[in-house]
Amino acid sequence: MKVLKFGGTSVGSVDSIRTLIEILKQEKSERQSPIVVLSAMSGVTNLLISMADRAAKGEEVSTFLKELENRHFDVVKALLDVPRQNPVFTKLKLYFNQLEDLLQGISSLQELTPKTRDLVLSFGERCSTFMVSKIAEQHLGEAIYADAADLIKTDSTYGQARVQTEITDLLIRGFYEENIGKLIFVTGFIASNDEGKITTLGRGGSDYTAAIIGSALNAEEIEIWTDVNGMMTADPRMVKKAFPLKELSYTEAMELSYFGAKVIYPPTMIPAFLKRIPIVIRNTF
Ligand code: ADP
Ligand code: ASP
Ligand code: MG
Repeated sequence: MKVLKFGGTSVGSVDSIRTLIEILKQEKSERQSPIVVLSAMSGVTNLLISMADRAAKGEEVSTFLKELENRHFDVVKALLDVPRQNPVFTKLKLYFNQLEDLLQGISSLQELTPKTRDLVLSFGERCSTFMVSKIAEQHLGEAIYADAADLIKTDSTYGQARVQTEITDLLIRGFYEENIGKLIFVTGFIASNDEGKITTLGRGGSDYTAAIIGSALNAEEIEIWTDVNGMMTADPRMVKKAFPLKELSYTEAMELSYFGAKVIYPPTMIPAFLKRIPIVIRNTF
């Protein structure tokens, strides 16, 4: 079984989600159903940060909320058959209402704690993953949506929580066994602490989610689907002559990522290395 992680650009538009569905179709026809880890739609985490910061200053956030809603609703309208749209709108609307209430609270208190910020950020991955799981269901048959807050346990270092591996592995294995053979979609980036409060794994942390799940289930491979052809000699946005590296050791990959190769989040390599699970970077586009 493989774990496939799709980053923000890969779930960021109607076209990229169409491509993602085609990739999953192919994967499902060739082998066991994968576990799919998703990021928030591109730009959404930054948008949520702006909203939280603005709310803390007592500034208006309704246009941002509308933008967030439109980005998701436009995808639903474009990619789901009409009879399937309503339940999805309802659940997304529930998320947006919770978010709005939360921002209202931040605004009233004019205070934004790291704990509340993590809760605000969690809506990005929860909305994208729920929405894409429903789109996938229409094309690929039954799909399960899982909130990683129920599967990944961390300490309370909000913003960059440390994973409690033993309990996390048990929870992931239990969940997988209950849903064996099904196509599972898991929210990247988010987790929860002992009290059940939402934590996050650090910016770019959805890669890490994929590795945590891959390691717990001894996956055969972790695929990171993004907008480049692999780990490259330099950031291709900055260096025109950058080229993809065919193969790197876990240590080399970790060094490159620590020194800024944002294509993969540094802690991702640790669980993969411990179980010797290959990480493959693939281009969605
Ligand atoms: P995703 O949203 O899929 O997680 P990211 O934006 O986090 O994608 O990472 C992909 C981006 O990482 C690429 O678009 C690229 O500009 C950047 N990047 C920086 N350094 C490197 C590198 N050494 N190799 C490949 N990509 C890199
Ligand atoms: N959405 C989160 C972020 O933008 C996590 C991720 O994309 O990996 O940092
Ligand atoms: Mg990333």
